[in-house]
Amino acid sequence: MKLLFEKSVEGRGCSILPPLDVPACEPKEKRQAPLRLPQIAEVDISRHYTELAKRTHGVNDGFYPLGSCTMKYNPKINDEMAALPGFAKVHPLQPAHTVQGCLKVLTLAEKYLCEITGMDAMTFQPAAGAHGEFTGLLLIKAYHKSRGDTRRTKIIVPDAAHGTNPASATMAGMQIVNIPSNEEGCVDIEKLKAAVGEDTAGLMLTNPNTVGIFDKNILQITKIIHDAGGLNYYDGANLNAVMGVVRPGDMGFDVIHLNLHKTFSTPHGGGGPGSGPVGCKELLKPFLPLYHAVQTDDGYRFDSPKQSIGSVKAFYGNFAVVVKALTYILTLGAEGIREASQNAVLNANYLKSRLSQWYDIAYDGICMHEFVMTLENLKKEHGVTAMDVAKMLLDNGIHPPTMYFPLIVHEALMVEPTETESKDTLDQAAEVFHAIYQKACEDPEALHQAPTTTPVRRLDEVGAARNPVLKYPF
Ligand SMILES: *Cc1c(COP(=O)(O)O)cnc(C)c1O
Repeated sequence: MKLLFEKSVEGRGCSILPPLDVPACEPKEKRQAPLRLPQIAEVDISRHYTELAKRTHGVNDGFYPLGSCTMKYNPKINDEMAALPGFAKVHPLQPAHTVQGCLKVLTLAEKYLCEITGMDAMTFQPAAGAHGEFTGLLLIKAYHKSRGDTRRTKIIVPDAAHGTNPASATMAGMQIVNIPSNEEGCVDIEKLKAAVGEDTAGLMLTNPNTVGIFDKNILQITKIIHDAGGLNYYDGANLNAVMGVVRPGDMGFDVIHLNLHKTFSTPHGGGGPGSGPVGCKELLKPFLPLYHAVQTDDGYRFDSPKQSIGSVKAFYGNFAVVVKALTYILTLGAEGIREASQNAVLNANYLKSRLSQWYDIAYDGICMHEFVMTLENLKKEHGVTAMDVAKMLLDNGIHPPTMYFPLIVHEALMVEPTETESKDTLDQAAEVFHAIYQKACEDPEALHQAPTTTPVRRLDEVGAARNPVLKYPF
């Protein structure tokens, strides 16, 4: 497929800018030559992007059980609300009294999300999950520093953690203490006890964890950290199993981030941008980033917390995403939020139980919103890998589950069906998985060849990551 630059024809396209009706100014740093933008008619641009969209797989194309990513359907009403001129056409530097509705959105979203998570305050500045982790860790750092407790530089991270956890902690200038999980895929209490000390800044944990298991020892875990003088960070990127059911704040967590672009039905991936709000307990509130919207007797205004860590992003974060998430919360209501989680867990357990007829499930028992399969035996017996199965799913109109994650499970496929899929869809998917399993046993070579129906076959994924081509050579 040609790039826009290759489709460009000199003189084509249209200029829709009105003539200048203010005095022209001569900027000091003026561009010498005009920008080399492609010259293309609107209809051709429209076709270009439609063609691109057809070459990819989104939630609107079919089942998308990408574990740890919560690829749920995003109701269109979210976008309708975010597109209202009062939200879409405001300027970040407008005086507060002209954007009271927008400030109300921020305070309402804060109120509901604090209710759902058991937190006391929230910032919407971070642009995504990992950015939220970084912000939350800066809060922990600022807290210890404010108490003169500068020895606390270590963050405990279980080996089942999402890769962003150790990365964010490193970015925040902390050292990682990795602890292995036990046989159930949960935190090993003895190893945790051995890891804490006077240098412990805190713990980063996901619960349910990345293998889809809710850690029953959670109160004991968070207490061990508190008793050692550390704080507990909850990676709430996937709240899909617990919202309206249990709250991180009640589990003993002091600070959390959420991915509105996962649990709260705002699109992510190519459809972004994201939003990774950070919630905290009262003790961390003084350190929150700038522009914290508050309600006062004379309306809404922005407040800058006294010992703020500063800004982590321009202005108020990705505001339109917050509008979409608030729309989702208000559409579902308290009961609906809880039901969404219950159905997400039900769907995951239903699909797990069907797939377990053919595939090995990494951890026994009831799962939460997702589960992990291990294809180790399939690999040993037939030479078929998780990658092969993933690629053949593409030929069947299904986006593959997350592959090779979490790292503690070999040949992992991590499946998260979400609550927005019907039983019919799950049954059809189970049949596809079944057929692929049979094919793997009878004709493994066919799986090595997959995919055969996609616009491109197997890609050089390492090459794409190591040597990305990011600019157009004119
Ligand atoms: C997705 C995810 C993240 C990172 O979120 P981004 O928005 O991609 O930065 C962190 N932790 C967990 C458990 C996740 O699933």
